[in-house]
Amino acid sequence: MSKFRKINLDERQMPTSWYNIMADMPNKPQPMLHPATKQPVKLEDMTPLFPVELLKQEMSTERWIEIPEEVQDIYRVWRPTPLHRALNLEKALDTPARIYFKNESVSPAGSHKPNTAVAQAYYNYKEGVKRLTTETGAGQWGSALAYACDIFGLELQVFMVRVSYEQKPYRKMMMNTWNANVVPSPSSLTEAGRRILAEHPDSPGSLGIAISEAVEMAVKDPDTRYSLGSVLNHVLLHQTIIGQEAIKQMEMAGDFPDVVIGCFGGGSNFAGISFPFLRLKLTEGKKLRAIAVEPASCPKLTRGTFAYDFGDTVGMTPLIPMYTLGHNFIPAKIHAGGLRYHGAGAIVSQLLKDKIIEAVSIPQLETFEAGVLFARTEGIIPAPESTHAIAAAIREAKKAKEEGVSKTILFNLSGHGVIDLAAYDQYFSGKLENYAISDEEIQNSLKELQPVNV
Ligand SMILES: *Cc1c(COP(=O)(O)O)cnc(C)c1O
Repeated sequence: MSKFRKINLDERQMPTSWYNIMADMPNKPQPMLHPATKQPVKLEDMTPLFPVELLKQEMSTERWIEIPEEVQDIYRVWRPTPLHRALNLEKALDTPARIYFKNESVSPAGSHKPNTAVAQAYYNYKEGVKRLTTETGAGQWGSALAYACDIFGLELQVFMVRVSYEQKPYRKMMMNTWNANVVPSPSSLTEAGRRILAEHPDSPGSLGIAISEAVEMAVKDPDTRYSLGSVLNHVLLHQTIIGQEAIKQMEMAGDFPDVVIGCFGGGSNFAGISFPFLRLKLTEGKKLRAIAVEPASCPKLTRGTFAYDFGDTVGMTPLIPMYTLGHNFIPAKIHAGGLRYHGAGAIVSQLLKDKIIEAVSIPQLETFEAGVLFARTEGIIPAPESTHAIAAAIREAKKAKEEGVSKTILFNLSGHGVIDLAAYDQYFSGKLENYAISDEEIQNSLKELQPVNV
């Protein structure tokens, strides 16, 4: 095995289809339910929110879905992304494990999110939509969609979770640079926002609240659609280009992962890196573990419950069968804004329920410690979200050392943290803390769940 540091694919080797894991799942997820009737949602129910082509993808069980030429063309601005072997990190950990990472931080917005943003903007543009609305946490999704909408000449209204709007002004400036409108959420632009502000004037906001606002605004205007950066099947689908490239690159390295790791907000970058590998597990019996890594302060996968729940706070979205902490759960103000979400995608939830994937949760300080070690060894300053994947990879590498076994670890570097440096500053000055969450708090939040038979 050669000790290379980086494998680049040629533009011509970029995959031309997305992989739909629905085709290969032993148990498909239960259908989403209409919020009012509690009946399975039909495509027509969702057309006020999404273009038809994305809804078809949402419900598709076709294994491969072709990436439109126009989308491929834009992907080639930054794709294929490099695969690195983290030799310096391995050395610092003195581990027998081989650690690889897929570098999604090289996109224009600095994360994996443009993989779906470009696809979504494209299908909306093709169907004559004029304007998109969306929510954003740390601002990664908002900036990715701003970049994509600007390419296709679509207007964009972004509802940015207030705590992030205040912590991360530079993301807002990026969105403005790409011509998007940005307001802190809860805002006074929508009924949902006004209602929450009346009750909690200094609400830090949450992704769930911001989604309610963006959905409300889209439903009220026939030229406007809504766009979501994670959770939904079509979003996870678009991210699978990551893992398909990684399979080719691992082949070139003459290696294959025993463990594939992604941090977990709603599931899109985890799905992106892991689903193409899980295809090999599900259809060819390849042995590998896929680990989703969530913050200890927002532990839906490890401490939540599997139930039908709303994707937003107000209860406007369909009910999704998923691991959830309850749609009213407001996570602590950790810096990994993209991981502050109460629920999980239906596909990922089903895979976890069926024990095809695993989940772990990691406290904030351990993730920053991992991020700093990574920056000092591999040079790239990771996004606070991505530090969760790094921390889990380090745990696996340390375990390999204790057990004296060699193993191959692959994680997704979902984004860089150059716009999150204030978080690093706080870490260095000792101001960051871990947020423990009690079983009682979780039970209280779950109490508000509407019981639906699963
Ligand atoms: C949004 C985001 C995440 C979390 O979202 P997923 O949909 O779970 O991938 C992780 N990392 C970065 C850098 C992000 O921007």
